[in-house]
Amino acid sequence: MGKILVIGAGGVSSVAVHKMAQVIAAGDGPFSEVLLASRTVSKCETIADSVKQRTGVDIRTAQIDADDVPALTALIEQEKPDLVVNLALPYQDLPIMDACLATRTDYLDTANYEPRDEAKFEYKWQWDYQDRFKDAGIMALLGSGFDPGVTSIFTCWLKKHHFDRIDTLDILDCNGGDHGQHFATNFNPEINIREVTANSRHWENGDWVEGPPLTQKQEFDFEAVGPKNMYLMYHEEIESLKTHLPEIQRIRFWMTFGDAYLTHLEVLQNVGMTRIDPVMYEGREIIPLQFLKAVLPEPASLGETTKGNTNIGVIATGVKDGVEKTLYVKNICSHEAAFEETGNQGVSYTTGVPAMIGAAMMLSSQWKGHGVFNMEQFDPDPFMEMLNQHGLPWKLEELEAPLAF
Ligand code: NDP
Repeated sequence: MGKILVIGAGGVSSVAVHKMAQVIAAGDGPFSEVLLASRTVSKCETIADSVKQRTGVDIRTAQIDADDVPALTALIEQEKPDLVVNLALPYQDLPIMDACLATRTDYLDTANYEPRDEAKFEYKWQWDYQDRFKDAGIMALLGSGFDPGVTSIFTCWLKKHHFDRIDTLDILDCNGGDHGQHFATNFNPEINIREVTANSRHWENGDWVEGPPLTQKQEFDFEAVGPKNMYLMYHEEIESLKTHLPEIQRIRFWMTFGDAYLTHLEVLQNVGMTRIDPVMYEGREIIPLQFLKAVLPEPASLGETTKGNTNIGVIATGVKDGVEKTLYVKNICSHEAAFEETGNQGVSYTTGVPAMIGAAMMLSSQWKGHGVFNMEQFDPDPFMEMLNQHGLPWKLEELEAPLAF
C-alpha cells in the first residue's frame, strides 16, 4: 500500500486522481492515500470535492510551485510519499526529478521535458538522470500517458505475443470529438501548439527524416469516428521506441486535425500569436503563446460540451514464423462516458488512466528497477490487463495488407 503525491491539477490530474480514488474505494489496489498539490490550490480543492462526491474518498490538498525545488523537497520530506506523480507541465519535469533525487523518492510523468525557450522535445535531459537515479536507488517512469505511454505498451505487447520482429510501426492518434468551440486544444494549449507547430520528424532506416510542420497528410477511416485527415508529426515515443526496439526500420506518428483547427492555427501563426520569444507590450515582456493560452478555453472546461470518440492505436507490420503480417491494436474512448465518470473529456481521460496504471505498476512492484525507464522496458501484460479493467479497453485486429502509404 502506497502514498502518492500528485503534482498539477489540470484535466489529466483530475482523471488520474479520480481513478486512484476508485481503486482506494474498491479496497483492492496498491494505493493507500493521495495528496494533490499544485500551484493554484483552489483547483486541487475542486478535484478533491468531485472525488469525494463520486467515490467517497478524501483527498488532501496542498499549494506548491514545483519550479521551487527547495519548497518541493520540503513538502516531500514532510509528507513522505512513496511515489511522486508529475501531472503538471513538461517544464516541471527536471525540478520535480531533482526534488525526488534529494528525497530518494520514485517519480512518474506523462510527457518529456522541454525547455520553455525552445519548442524541442527530447529524452536526453531526463535520460541524463539515469546514473543519479540508479545511485540513489530510486526509479523514474517516463511517459505513462496514452501517447507516449499506451502506444509503447501496445507495441511491446505486439512484439511479445505476435511478432518475432517488427519492421514498421505507425502510431495513429485520432480525436473525433467536437467541443463546439471555434478553436480550442484538448490538452494544455501552450504545450499542444508548441507540439503541433514543430517540424515533422520520423525514424527511417537508422536516421531521422525531417519535414515542415503539417504538410504530409493521409486520409484514414477510423472506427467509431469515420474518415479523417491525419498529419505526419514528431512525437516523443518515436525516440524511445527506436532506442529500445532498434529492429524497427520505420516509425511514424500521425495525428488528425480538422480543417477549421488548421485554418485558425495558420492565422495565429501568421500574426505571431504562437511565438515563444518575449515581445514588449505596454512596458513589460510577454510571450505571445502564453497570452494566447490565457484567452483560449481551459481544456478542463471542455468536458461538458465535447461529444464523440477518440481512437488511438498502433499498426505494426512484421514477421512471425517467417510469415509477414500487419496488426492493429487500438482503444476507442467516448468523450461523453469519460465526462460522466470523472467530469473530464476523453483526452484527459486517456492520459489520466494510464498515469494511474503506471503508478499501480510501480507501487505493486510489478514494474521495478533503479534508474530512468521508458514504458517499453517493462512487461506489458499487467498494464494491458489494467487498461481493460479501468476504462480503456483495447482490441486487436489483423489487417489484410501493410498500410498503402
Ligand atoms: P493543464 O494545463 O490542464 O494542467 C496543468 C496543471 O499543472 C495546472 O493545474 C497547473 O497549475 C499546474 N502547474 C503548472 N505549472 C506548475 C508549477 N510550476 N507548479 C505546480 N503546478 C503547476 O494540463 P493537462 O492536464 O492537459 O496536461 C498535464 C500534463 O499531461 C502535461 O504535461 C501534458 O503535456 C501531459 N499530457 C500527456 C499526454 C500523453 O498522452 N502522454 C496527453 C495529454 C497531456 P495552474 O492551474 O496554476 O496553471
